[in-house]
Amino acid sequence: MLCVICKKPVDMSKQNRFRPFCSERCQLVDLGTWASGGYEPDDAGSAEDHEHPDDLKKRRTLH
Ligand SMILES: [Zn+2]
Repeated sequence: MLCVICKKPVDMSKQNRFRPFCSERCQLVDLGTWASGGYEPDDAGSAEDHEHPDDLKKRRTLH
C-alpha cells in the first residue's frame, strides 16, 4: 500500500503506528496540523475574543 500523502510504500505491520501513513509527518499532513506549522490560530483567536480590536491594533503597533 502507498502512503496517500507522499506515495511512498507504507509498512502496514503493527510496528508502524502511523498507518495508513508512512510516517508521523504524513499523518500530521492528513490531520492538517503540518500545514499550519508556525501559525497558532488559538493564539490569535483567543486574543480577539478577549480584547477589543482597537486594543489589538495598538498593541501590534507598539511591537
Ligand atoms: Zn508518507
